[in-house]
Amino acid sequence: MKSWVDISERRLATNYRLLTEAASVGMSVLAVVKADAYGHGAAVCAPVLVRAGARWLGVTDAQEGAAVGEALAAAGVAASERPDILVMSGLLAEDADAIVQHRLVPVVWDRQQMEWLADAVDGYGKGLRQRVHLEIDTGMARQGVRAGAELKAVLEYLSQHPSLELDGVMTHFASAEVAGSPQTLEQRTRFEQAMREVSAAGLRPAWIHAGNSSTIDNSASPQTDTLVWLRQLAGEYGARAMVRPGLGLYGYCLPIECADCSNDKHAEARVRPELQPVMTWKTRVIGLREVQAGETVGYNATFVAKQPMRLALLPVGYADGLRRELSAATGIDGGWVMVQGQRAAIVGRVSMNLTVVDVSGITGVAVGDEVVLLGDGVTADDHALLAGTIAYEIVCGVRAPSRLGA
Ligand SMILES: *Cc1c(COP(=O)(O)O)cnc(C)c1O
Repeated sequence: MKSWVDISERRLATNYRLLTEAASVGMSVLAVVKADAYGHGAAVCAPVLVRAGARWLGVTDAQEGAAVGEALAAAGVAASERPDILVMSGLLAEDADAIVQHRLVPVVWDRQQMEWLADAVDGYGKGLRQRVHLEIDTGMARQGVRAGAELKAVLEYLSQHPSLELDGVMTHFASAEVAGSPQTLEQRTRFEQAMREVSAAGLRPAWIHAGNSSTIDNSASPQTDTLVWLRQLAGEYGARAMVRPGLGLYGYCLPIECADCSNDKHAEARVRPELQPVMTWKTRVIGLREVQAGETVGYNATFVAKQPMRLALLPVGYADGLRRELSAATGIDGGWVMVQGQRAAIVGRVSMNLTVVDVSGITGVAVGDEVVLLGDGVTADDHALLAGTIAYEIVCGVRAPSRLGA
């Protein structure tokens, strides 16, 4: 195997607990396992999260939802322990049947989606009710229905179609990692408006949910704590409050920024320092060679050895998700891997399926030795910094089979 991902069951369960504790009493936690659990393998991670207590999981589409449901059953999660699975990123006509059949709960926001679902439910005979969660667009302008006339039409449709049950109302924040974000405050106000309209239409959702990992992490200041707001709002409508962390479960979180850094004293992280990376992406040395001073390494000879070096060859490259921005050239440091707990610098360009690292300073490296590409000592944040992106994209980009480890 070229490379693989070891998943720390203990860290995943601990991160889930830390986020749940930070979200605090009265707040349910939906564990987001979309995008194959952010590259960690949903089939491996979902059962761990369920055993850690997750009663809701979040996926992107119906196919992911069906696969997660099957993975839970295969992992021995009893039907009575099966969590609800929220399909968060829309649906097409052809998904409606799968949603009903696999007992998934879709997020909806327009009439057409609800018509597809109502048709699919009717196809399953009388009396069946399909739960849906309604997304309110409070400022992302990505998906969701806006408060006012648009929402009114959707609520009318729901009131007239008892085969659809409004189980939840939710929204998503655009700037959750910004402490005291005026945008978040505006989104909150729009969501309150939408909830008044939902209630006026006589609908009583069981769940009200909003927020991601950063919303939990950004709850250190009572003035800007969106979770306090969410809990109060849910209380007003007799619903249960829920927050939806994803990245934090896997041990990463964006740094908290402040809307006005000059006088914001609340840009404090609630859980980020305690979270631990769950993924250790590993490979093995497949070759070793010595080069002399003056020899070049890799495509376009961007790296010239200054002194004799011992180089190790790794069977991974950008096709596997090892970013090409980690390449090193003479005078420009790139990324590194961990060998025997020590840093081994990437040498020359990361290629499609191969990467060369410097093991001159590490004794006894042999072909077949394990190498850590991502994990303790070399984090997704390190890769993100070099690649000019965020940890989300790094972990999602890892293309390797995952398996459960300690
Ligand atoms: C991905 C996603 C989340 C989780 O976000 P993180 O930043 O990874 O915690 C929450 N809610 C929705 C709707 C999402 O799409």
